[in-house]
Parts: sequence; structure tokens; C-alpha cells
Amino acid sequence: MAVIDKLTSQQAIALEHQYGSNTYHSLPVVLSKGKGVYVWDVDGKKYYDFLSAYSAVNQGHCHPKIIEALTKQAQTLTLTSRAFYNDMLGRFEKFVCDYFGFEKMLPMNSGAEAVETALKICRKWGYEVKGIKRDEAKIVVCNKNFHGRTTTIVSFSNDEKATKSFGPYTDGFINIDYNDLDALEAVLKRNPNIAGFLVEPIQGEAGVYVPSEGYLAKAKALCESYHVLFIADEVQTGIGRTGKRLAVDHENVKPDILILGKALSGGVYPVSAALANNTVMEVMTPGTHGSTFGGNPLAAAVAIAALKVVQDENLAANAETLGQLFRNELNDYIKTSNIVTLVRGKGLLNAIVINDTEDSDTAWNICLALRDNGLLAKPTHGNVIRFAPPLVMTKSQLMDCVGIITKTLQAFEK
Ligand SMILES: *Cc1c(COP(=O)(O)O)cnc(C)c1O
Repeated sequence: MAVIDKLTSQQAIALEHQYGSNTYHSLPVVLSKGKGVYVWDVDGKKYYDFLSAYSAVNQGHCHPKIIEALTKQAQTLTLTSRAFYNDMLGRFEKFVCDYFGFEKMLPMNSGAEAVETALKICRKWGYEVKGIKRDEAKIVVCNKNFHGRTTTIVSFSNDEKATKSFGPYTDGFINIDYNDLDALEAVLKRNPNIAGFLVEPIQGEAGVYVPSEGYLAKAKALCESYHVLFIADEVQTGIGRTGKRLAVDHENVKPDILILGKALSGGVYPVSAALANNTVMEVMTPGTHGSTFGGNPLAAAVAIAALKVVQDENLAANAETLGQLFRNELNDYIKTSNIVTLVRGKGLLNAIVINDTEDSDTAWNICLALRDNGLLAKPTHGNVIRFAPPLVMTKSQLMDCVGIITKTLQAFEK
């Protein structure tokens, strides 16, 4: 079978439309190279990446230290399955546990798998430790959540596109409003069969919704008092993105189960994990869960290198500083803007809200114009544009990007 050699953008897009399942509404740009904060399209045009593959590429594209770990391990041993031990997994587990302050981890591949893993651990803990009656366990989740795309996870999504025609849905979830402690307390008080509360420290896909200060700490305290596991999905917010190691660190909260993915590998390879302490993780025993690729030696080598980069290059601190600067600059612009109503976020996970209806195509058109001006970003929900560059960005690069963004927005002012 012939593989097509050199492609124009149009050809590449046409191939995906013809032969791919069309599950994404991608911005029309075809990338063929990445380095640090930059990506290049097939014609050699250079862009700032302001999405970072949904915060998977926090360490920048093709970080040399991570690529070195990948190529070295790829030539040595890639996959053993868990039928046997390998000499990398234990190192990876110890490194991650020390890094995030947990006693145990369970390695997976995609973020959704790690969320599924956390839900299974939580239910098993609910039955075997908390003593909930068989098949009665409930897990509380938030409205407008995004936790991935499996059948169980979409069962508690409010996004009609994500859920419609995929029923019957998995039972056992209770939705409450995000950032609503009264709703959380009410549901915990009412229902003795609740095993866990699953929450994003910032709702990324929903449009970078930052909860009120103190929300996470108080939600965690409520969970403790009702003997319910606090499960933090930090797949998007973790690993330096919001200006701390984890987003929960802003409120000194220690989750009972921590879910990581995306930047755990610096975007080099799918690596995810659920972390917990012994009293929780020990409910999992041989045969209760697994994955052929989960915790493979290649993933282990890549993830260790990716986490070291975040530490060695102080990426969380850089995200904090640059994030403040970014929001200050955008707030300055917004003072006289008709097209942008606000900027919100933490660290380098930010979004602007466009002054138009949710079903308008203004945000999309702004993203097309940003692309033409050399910066790639995407709308999240309708009129919100997320800005999440790699954390290896410098101050002068960020100011360059602020210039591109404000110049582009100016053309849309009425
Ligand atoms: C992206 C994401 C997931 C799912 O990760 P995949 O690797 O796409 O399965 C889960 N939770 C959150 C908060 C995410 O942003």
C-alpha cells in the first residue's frame, strides 16, 4: 500500500475528512513540526501554540530531555505487560509517589482511563471500607464537568453532544452545581451511600471556570466529615499549569484520589495515573483492574523525564509569573474593549469571554484570525477562547503573544 509522500494543507485535511471518523471540529491548520512554544505548518509557517494539546505539552514541544529518555528506552525495552515485572515501573511509581506525596499509584494511558480507574477504586472503597450496601454506591459529580469520553464518564456529562445517542448510561452518579458548597453539603447529608466527590479544581473544557477561593478546601473538609473520598481530576490543571505543582496546592488540599494525565508525559506518549494512599489503594487486588500498556517501560521513562523537566526548569513558578502578566495585560485591553468581556484563569490556564451569544461564530472567527497572525488557540464552549501556551515560554515571547492577541481582537471591535 502506497503512503502519500508530501501533502499540502488542503490534501491533509481532505484525507482526514474522507478516511477519518469526523469526531473533531479542528481549526484548519496542518502542523508538521514543533519545538518549545512553537509549531510549524506544512508550508513552514511558524505559530505560537496557545493550546499545548489541551495542556499536555506543558514542557514544550519535543523537549530534548524527554525525547532523549524516549529514544533511549525505545531501544532497550518498550513493553512487557504486567504479566512480568520490569525494571522501570517501580522506579516510575516511586518517583511519582514522592513527587506528589502519595503512597501508591496505578498507571494507565489516557486521561479517561485514569478517571475510570479512580471511579472503580472509589466504588470498591465504598463497599469494602465504608460499608455501603452492594450496588448502592453513589459518586457526586459537578455540572458542566469534563472527565473524558468513555460510556461511564459521558453518563454524567451535561453536554448533549457528548451524551446523545450513547445510552443506556451508567447509574450511580449525582450531579450538583460546580462551586456550590451548599449543594455539596445537602447531598452529602441526604445520602449515606455516597462514596466519592469527583471534581476538576478548575473546569477547563467548560471554559476555564475558576471556583471561588476556599471552595476546594471546604469541599475537601465536607468530604472528610461525611467519610467520602475527595477525587481531584487534575488531568488538565496539574503539573505546573496553574502556577503550582497541582491546582489543589493553591488551597493546600490533599485529594484522597488524584488523577493525572496529559502533561504527565509532556505530550510525548500517553501516560496517565490514579494516585492514592494505602488505605484507599489497597482495595485493589490482582485481577480487579489492569491495562496491557499501563505502566510500560517506555511510559515510565518518558514520565520520569517529563516530571523532572517541570521541576528543573521551575515551570510552575514561570506559569504563575507569566499568568499574572498575561491577565494584567488582557485586563488593560478589556477596559476599552467591546468584543471581550473578561479574562479569567490561574497560572497559564486562561480564557477570554467574547461579547457575543454562545452559538455565534465570533470566537471561531477570532481564532482563524489569530492563526493568520501566527498564534493557535481554539474556542471551548461557543464564545470562550482558552489560552494555554507551553510553560517554557519566556516573558518576551509572552509579550509578543499579547501583542498578536490584542492586535487581532482590535480588528473585531465594533
Ligand atoms: C482531557 C481531560 C480528560 C481526558 O483525557 P484523555 O487523555 O483525553 O482521555 C479528563 N479530565 C480532564 C479534566 C481533561 O481535561
